[in-house]
Amino acid sequence: MLPKRRSCGEGGRRGDPVISCDVTTPAILWFRRDLRLYDHAALLAAARRSESVLAVFVLDDNLLRPAGASRRDFLYGCLRELDERLGHRLLLRHGDPAEVLPELAERVGAGSVHVSADTNPYGSRRDERVRDALRERGVDWEVTGSPYAVTPGRITKADGNPYKVFTPFRRAWSEHGWPPPAETGVDTVDWMSPEGLDGVPVPDGEQAAAPDLPPPGETNALRRWDGFVESGLPEYDQQRDRPDIAGTSRMSAYLHLGCVHPRTMLRDLSQLDHHGAGSYRNELAFREFYADVLWNWPDSARYNFDTRFDRMPLDTGSEANTLFDIWCAGRTGFPIVDAGMRQLLQEGWMHNRVRMIVASFLVKDLHLPWWWGARHFMLHLVDGDLASNQHGWQWAAGSGTDAAPYFRIFNPTTQGERFDPSGEYVRRYVSELRDVGGKRVHQPWKFDGAQAPDYPAPVVDHSHERQEALARYGRIKNS
Ligand SMILES: Cc1cc2nc3c(=O)[nH]c(=O)nc-3n(C[C@H](O)[C@H](O)[C@H](O)COP(=O)(O)OP(=O)(O)OC[C@H]3O[C@@H](n4cnc5c(N)ncnc54)[C@H](O)[C@@H]3O)c2cc1C
Repeated sequence: MLPKRRSCGEGGRRGDPVISCDVTTPAILWFRRDLRLYDHAALLAAARRSESVLAVFVLDDNLLRPAGASRRDFLYGCLRELDERLGHRLLLRHGDPAEVLPELAERVGAGSVHVSADTNPYGSRRDERVRDALRERGVDWEVTGSPYAVTPGRITKADGNPYKVFTPFRRAWSEHGWPPPAETGVDTVDWMSPEGLDGVPVPDGEQAAAPDLPPPGETNALRRWDGFVESGLPEYDQQRDRPDIAGTSRMSAYLHLGCVHPRTMLRDLSQLDHHGAGSYRNELAFREFYADVLWNWPDSARYNFDTRFDRMPLDTGSEANTLFDIWCAGRTGFPIVDAGMRQLLQEGWMHNRVRMIVASFLVKDLHLPWWWGARHFMLHLVDGDLASNQHGWQWAAGSGTDAAPYFRIFNPTTQGERFDPSGEYVRRYVSELRDVGGKRVHQPWKFDGAQAPDYPAPVVDHSHERQEALARYGRIKNS
């Protein structure tokens, strides 16, 4: 599968320009959210510049601190795998990349630093600082590719403005297209030894991480993807909304850290013509859409995209804090909500349908700010991704780009009965309800308390809170 070694200066793909490379001046490949060797456009670019490449990853506290234990643990696992595959030639440094990279470039005499684009607000600002610091020392900064099939910011409407609505974006995205996967691998370059460059070991796994995280790294990502294409994808369009069935790919954490490039997956999808493949492609387009929205409106990570929602009355204060803690712990008394919140703590992941249900519950039943929920998700999700998470939350809150209409309020009980019809999902995560058979499990208040004595009563009356949410919305909708 992995390509054979090219000689320096040889074009990677048909039609690629051939740039003669320098065998004496090394290049640096700075890994970030691209922890893989196959389909790595920046690695190909580095190979065109030099035969000898230093692989670097910088542990940056600005990113590590808010990541949460599960995402850090998964990251460390991915770094360990990458390091092993590179024959222990991944240099890990701790610090500010704007200081680490120029210092390293000087020490090894590198002529260029190669990266995949980071289009998140922090990443873009950091990269400008790194680029400027390198240029001051005469080192080239070369950005090739990104974690997306189409780099955010590239697709615009005919009038030059970015898209705010998904469906036309997806159409334009498909028409724009993307190149085939870059045929790269461990043999694409000679990896420099990091000896004597003050590397630090990959940190130990995190005690506080969720106990059931996915196995890390590119090899596991490709293995999971191949298995899903074979056995899950044909039914994906039928099963993707069912949390009780393992009907989705669970590729999100791998995509987030770039253990696989979406282009690799889109190439595989293009060779299939069933509905499952079409539906999966649509979800990948959502990921690209939200990244594009974040690139164009970086403030949408923190503020309501629809500013009418700035006037939405929200609950705060000690009672609100208590309700928030109950929601976080999965003790609301609504089984599907509690199952989702407990799955998050156990696996660092939650099924998409249930993410929508718990988000709607926080915003429309508890009347709490969406960003409280988004923050909790970002702390616990192994796939926590600023663009997909914040915009997923804004969608649920009704304040985002083509968001769910605010007046469409999920009823957690009927959602549970519809998407977890046998109650299997709830029983898996809510131990107090494990012995309750069938879909009755979605309405524990209806059966004798002795059957589930430790399970809490509902914290709110859904029909009452639904009316309250609509009344609050009525106050802002025409403003
Ligand atoms: C409130 C909320 C918060 C979310 N937070 C995140 C997050 O932090 N990180 C994240 O990757 N996804 C997030 N999502 C989107 C979605 O829930 C996850 O991508 C999905 O559950 C991941 O599981 P999977 O890989 O099995 O998905 P699959 O159904 O197999 O989908 C395949 C891939 O498509 C992408 N995708 C699917 N649905 C969406 C979507 N709605 N938006 C964007 N991309 C999508 C993901 O990369 C996913 O891995 C959020 C959704 C909501 C409603």
